[in-house]
Amino acid sequence: MPTALSREEWKSRTSRLIYHNKAFINGKYVDAASGETFDCISPIDGRSLTRVARCDSEDVDRAVRAARRAFDSGVWADMAPNQRKKVLLKFAELIEKHEDEFALLETLDMGKPISFSQSIDVPAVVKTVSWYGEAIDKMYDEIAPTPKDALALITREPLGVVGVVVPWNFPLLMAAWKFGPALAAGNSVIVKPAEQSPLSALRVAELAVEAGVPDGVFNVLPGFGETAGQALGMHMDVDMIAFTGSTEVGKLFMQYSGKSNLKHVSLECGGKTPNIVLSDAPDLDAVAKEAGMAIFFNSGQVCVAASRLLVQEDIHDAFIDKVKSVGRIMAPGDPLDPETMMGTMVDDTQTKRVMGYIETGKSEGAAVVLGGNRVMEESGGYYIEPTIFDGVNNDMRIAQEEIFGPVLSTITFRDPEEAVKIANDTVYGLQAILWTNDINKAHKMARALKAGTVNVNNTDGGDITVPFGGYKQSGFGRDKSLHALGKYSQLKTTYIKLS
Ligand code: NAD
Repeated sequence: MPTALSREEWKSRTSRLIYHNKAFINGKYVDAASGETFDCISPIDGRSLTRVARCDSEDVDRAVRAARRAFDSGVWADMAPNQRKKVLLKFAELIEKHEDEFALLETLDMGKPISFSQSIDVPAVVKTVSWYGEAIDKMYDEIAPTPKDALALITREPLGVVGVVVPWNFPLLMAAWKFGPALAAGNSVIVKPAEQSPLSALRVAELAVEAGVPDGVFNVLPGFGETAGQALGMHMDVDMIAFTGSTEVGKLFMQYSGKSNLKHVSLECGGKTPNIVLSDAPDLDAVAKEAGMAIFFNSGQVCVAASRLLVQEDIHDAFIDKVKSVGRIMAPGDPLDPETMMGTMVDDTQTKRVMGYIETGKSEGAAVVLGGNRVMEESGGYYIEPTIFDGVNNDMRIAQEEIFGPVLSTITFRDPEEAVKIANDTVYGLQAILWTNDINKAHKMARALKAGTVNVNNTDGGDITVPFGGYKQSGFGRDKSLHALGKYSQLKTTYIKLS
């Protein structure tokens, strides 16, 4: 159970926190080879929490050598699955033991409300690591249905060295969705956290070793995308990049692979989730509450943020009023206050980007019916009000481009066919949401929606047991579920002729 602490108690814990700010290579914290560091700024007040090692290609090289050595030695890859399971379960247990510390690190580093770091991020990390630990000694290989004079084994082998490159919106969870199954499958891993939020990945590294993950199997390289990220993507001895981030950078990783060693690439990229509310939806008050949370949660910095609200025209006016009320409740506040529902934007750049989109929406002719302003500037931090646009046309930039902020675009439709057409009219296809009381409509529309996940009468079909990932330019490859294990291994056929 998360500890219930007051704002003052969280502040006092902050002053006692020890930051792990060096790279983690081959089981040890080390400075960047260049000795360079960068400021880790908290978006709560714009102050530097600590200075963090600024890794570049030399550090990537060191980490890849350590990871390769560990992999080739078989110390982890050849460990019996039930032993690897024990280590991963211990790893999950240690993260859970330090759950308050991890929640605090996430909140300080990227500005999400402490109540959500505590109740969502950290428990989901623990669940992910333990779930893959539990899974790995229950996986069987296959025997092919060959003619009787042969025996063909289809076995899975780990890939080798896996680079994990992740964004800042759920810093440790996005990494865990990848290092959980990658480690379970027997790979060595190098995590490159986002430059905005390196602290939780750096802290978790020593817990991996404490749990029994051998030196060199789990490495963390803080640094910038254009240097550390690119060097990992271009490295000739990295076997796979598991990436979560923007579609733009995802495309770069495809190029890095093509220009280097044709390493495997999996991409979890951007989204522009349509949230379709039909007039026969059950309980419009409850739906409005969920619609508001689905865009304003984490200040809209969520790949599946339900940023396009598609409302059937006959309920439009009443429904928008209800969503506005939810937006008013979610006014930004101090992320360390357990009552706060909405925290900060991650940094100055993201704040300016989102404010730029709000201006774009106005100039495109959409009407701001709630919010639209940057607030709490005196704190030194980065806060934007929940913002709702009405009268949006799906051709507008605010309806087509991923804003990654608390900005909702409202679009009306006449019938289910038109709703599906608008919903699919985007380059993204990560998630779609649908509210209706009619099971036939629900099935038909779910089939027609081009998205990796379709949530019917809920906004969060997010269980670890189901695959998660995108259609179209939202990427390819799936995180979560047993399906994710497949991408961290390769198939070998051993065909034996029987005499
Ligand atoms: P980003 O693409 O800017 O950065 C993601 C990671 O890539 C970071 O670690 C960054 O350092 C690295 N990177 C940046 N430029 C690079 C380059 N030139 N070469 C190599 N690496 C580089 O994304 P962001 O701003 O950190 O996060 C927001 C994006 O992440 C949004 O588009 C969001 O939709 C996406 N996201 C997707 C999912 C999903 O599961 N589909 C989940 C969360 C976030």
